[in-house]
Amino acid sequence: MSSPAGKRVIIVGAGPAGLAAAEVLAQAGIAVTIHDRMPNPARKFLLAGRGGLNLTHSEDLETFLTRYGDARTDLEPAIRAFAPDDLRLWCESLGIETFVGSSGRVFPKQMKASPLLRAWLGRLAGLGVQLVAHSNWTGWDSDALTFDTADGPRTERPSASIFALGGASWPRLGSDGSWQSAFAARGVAIAPLRPANSGFLASWSPLFRQKCAGQPLKRILLRFEDQELRGEALLTAYGLEGNAIYALSNRLREAIASEGQAELEIDLLPDIPLDKLAQRLAGPRKDSVSNRLRKAGLSAAAASFLREDDRGPQLPADPLRLAHRIKQSRIRLTGVAPIERAISTAGGVTWSSLNAEYSLKSIPNTFVAGEMLDWEAPTGGYLLQACFATGRVAARGVLARLASS
Ligand SMILES: Cc1cc2nc3c(=O)[nH]c(=O)nc-3n(C[C@H](O)[C@H](O)[C@H](O)COP(=O)(O)OP(=O)(O)OC[C@H]3O[C@@H](n4cnc5c(N)ncnc54)[C@H](O)[C@@H]3O)c2cc1C
Repeated sequence: MSSPAGKRVIIVGAGPAGLAAAEVLAQAGIAVTIHDRMPNPARKFLLAGRGGLNLTHSEDLETFLTRYGDARTDLEPAIRAFAPDDLRLWCESLGIETFVGSSGRVFPKQMKASPLLRAWLGRLAGLGVQLVAHSNWTGWDSDALTFDTADGPRTERPSASIFALGGASWPRLGSDGSWQSAFAARGVAIAPLRPANSGFLASWSPLFRQKCAGQPLKRILLRFEDQELRGEALLTAYGLEGNAIYALSNRLREAIASEGQAELEIDLLPDIPLDKLAQRLAGPRKDSVSNRLRKAGLSAAAASFLREDDRGPQLPADPLRLAHRIKQSRIRLTGVAPIERAISTAGGVTWSSLNAEYSLKSIPNTFVAGEMLDWEAPTGGYLLQACFATGRVAARGVLARLASS
């Protein structure tokens, strides 16, 4: 085997997957150039930092791996090779301490992405990684990669390339899924890109929309099919979003795709047993229903939400029936919010198009990593963990390929 040093690798996409790949390659002595169409790297990673930057999760690895559903087998080697604990150690190596939140999620102590990104980019620059901003990859011309850059068209003929172009959510941050046509034209099979960890549409009454958009439904319990989970949802002008909704989003999305709608059941006061709630609702006769709901512990938004129930705005006067309504509120979801607003993307380059270590079968010396691969996972740190891990595997694949060529 010859030494890979002296070879040049192009990475397209400066999100977490592309940067993770760059680090492994540059540490092995490879000359790396990263192209990104945006003025600065990792815009989505920075946005994720606004929510605290949930880097990974502290649950045991077996449970962790189940979060990837059907893609578990394909992602498992990458995640075992760069596991949640490795990610935390890596953060520490950049001077960023992490902590485990009460939900088991792992965050940097500063609860934002910019210090971590700054330290990471500093390390990459120290390793000689070149970053070309404002450089839009436009496709292939024979075996060359073509770019529109701020200085005009540019062509690259690297020893190998890694694509980490992301999914199609939040396109204004750089990833819009426009890579699909060039890849498909080269024989790469792509599972349709669909919103994941997304919101859903509901037909709110105009008054409810006006009064309640932006209000949370806190500490609720959601039921859909055989799944039940606790969390928080956010009422929006178009419907519902928030952590608890995201966690159900792949099943809700599939139900809407096949049935045209999905009925979600919500327990608005899951900590109060039905009989106790009925007692509380019995209250003095002169009390209005709104007063009784308030005294029973419902927020104003939750009380209004009850009137958006599938069974109509009229609430039962009987306390037991009213308690039932609160504990089994039914909302019809009529569609999935647009992919532009989703946290992540399902679908992407199919596993059958890939060899081990994420090299493409139909395009020589070309590797793929991150969210543009065909997997999805709930929020909880599983997205970033898989992006870091797959970026590193693709880089190792490149190293092995270069060493044997
Ligand atoms: C609001 C929000 C909050 C989130 N919070 C979390 C969280 O807390 N925890 C978590 O695990 N995940 C979170 N995520 C998801 C996570 O940020 C993504 O899964 C992750 O950034 C994907 O990494 P990636 O490297 O695959 O792609 P991206 O981060 O999307 O990077 C792809 C890069 O490719 C570039 N690119 C695309 N096309 C081209 C082209 N043709 N030419 C040149 N460059 C191109 C883009 O400009 C972009 O910089 C969040 C996402 C959002 C939207």
